[in-house]
Amino acid sequence: MQFAQKLYKGIFPQRLKLDQKEQELLQKMYPTVDWEYVRYYRNMPWYMLKSFAIATALPHSYSGKYINIYFKSYKPNTFISTCTLVHEAFHVLQYEDMASMNKKGWGLGFFRRFIRYYLGWYFAKWVQTFLKKGVNRKEVGYQAYRYHEMEIPAYDHESIFGENFHHYRNADDSSYLFQQAPKLVIKNSNSPKRPPIWAWLLGSIIALVLTIVKPIADCLILIIALLFGGWREDKTLIR
Ligand SMILES: [Zn+2]
Repeated sequence: MQFAQKLYKGIFPQRLKLDQKEQELLQKMYPTVDWEYVRYYRNMPWYMLKSFAIATALPHSYSGKYINIYFKSYKPNTFISTCTLVHEAFHVLQYEDMASMNKKGWGLGFFRRFIRYYLGWYFAKWVQTFLKKGVNRKEVGYQAYRYHEMEIPAYDHESIFGENFHHYRNADDSSYLFQQAPKLVIKNSNSPKRPPIWAWLLGSIIALVLTIVKPIADCLILIIALLFGGWREDKTLIR
């Protein structure tokens, strides 16, 4: 696909509707989350087109209430996509627990506690990893992500689900899965404490800058995508 079409799709990602079984899985697994405030997309936003991430749970830029989950590629009820969905949905539980979504949420765009803490812990972890002896410098970024305070519990939960995936795949709904692995029902993510003050401040400043700059960048990217004919792909967006 051409560059302009990719950008256009990155501005207007294609909505994904979870099937009944997937919706029920998330509702039973994370019963305290207000799922009506979560939306799903089949491709990544434009600013993550080059990222190594295969999915991400990010705040909606034009409200303080909604969370968008984007997938690089989504194949319903496969091992990889369902594990990834469970992982990203764990982050949604963290948003919920950190008052960063729905009517109780506080903030706007990226300026929500989840993002301030996420960025803060990332910077703290990055510096800690960088100063460690024997760490390959190219790997610092990846390790700061993989051993991030808010990623470790999400990966742990995803891995428990992965071990029990066959109980889910072979049944019509998720009842049998939760009978076999009741610890998959999780009501509280035990959100982390505040990052070190310098990292928290840096995270907060960047979250604020992103909140202000993102709408401007969206407009510029849209203009570029339109100028280069990105809209021509429009019909194929509805699969
Ligand atoms: Zn994650």
